[in-house]
Amino acid sequence: MTGMPQAVVDQLLKENEGHRCPESEEVCVRIVAIADLPTIHGDYQVVAFWNNFDRKEHAAFVHGDVFDKEDVPVRLHSECLTGDVIGSLRCDCREQLVESQRRIAKMDFGVILYMRQEGRGIGFINKIRAYQLQDRGYDTLKANEMLGFKRDERDYDVAAHMLKSLHVKSIRLLTNNPDKIKDLQMHGMKVTTRIPVVVPPNEYNRFYLETKRRRAGHLMDNGNEENILEQPDELVDYHHWHQTEPQAD
Ligand SMILES: [Zn+2]
Ligand SMILES: [Zn+2]
Repeated sequence: MTGMPQAVVDQLLKENEGHRCPESEEVCVRIVAIADLPTIHGDYQVVAFWNNFDRKEHAAFVHGDVFDKEDVPVRLHSECLTGDVIGSLRCDCREQLVESQRRIAKMDFGVILYMRQEGRGIGFINKIRAYQLQDRGYDTLKANEMLGFKRDERDYDVAAHMLKSLHVKSIRLLTNNPDKIKDLQMHGMKVTTRIPVVVPPNEYNRFYLETKRRRAGHLMDNGNEENILEQPDELVDYHHWHQTEPQAD
């Protein structure tokens, strides 16, 4: 497995021991453990972070050696138990995660930051409450408010710190939402460009995309409210992307 060499791993562990940002900084994370993690989508190393702010145990999945590198492809992913683990069709989370994992595994190096904030920070119970509201066909405005449109600045604060802890110098962000670049830059991470997350049609995801399209009608309520977004951006499928961004990539 090629990843961060042992000497780099040792250095990261050593310098993070007892790391603490000055009191003035609200959010501080530190690396506690690093291990090899071969996955069905490629080789990774898993980096376990302790977060002093919300006591969440965040994770970085690192492919290749990102130490001191410029232009590192990075994907920010918010934890979604129902999507990531169970394969729920109410959201795109699992597809986004798998697609990012595959894309990055094909590159020389890259990082997936897995933020332990179910429902974008509102928590698992509140996320299911929002689903419940949707199931009953009312108060979608409230459900949306509870989920997709809640912006938590601290996500970006923590993400930027995690990347700095890994000595990543600048990144290329895997996202379909250009606004997210500004958010990271505001927190001191240099973003050189954006890589769109486009899901190409294949046997593996065709069923998913078709089922989702059919189900989406049921999950959206009577009005024309926007659907709930659990990740900071929406998945783009190949055909849609081809029509809207023919010049890219
Ligand atoms: Zn710190
Ligand atoms: Zn989800």
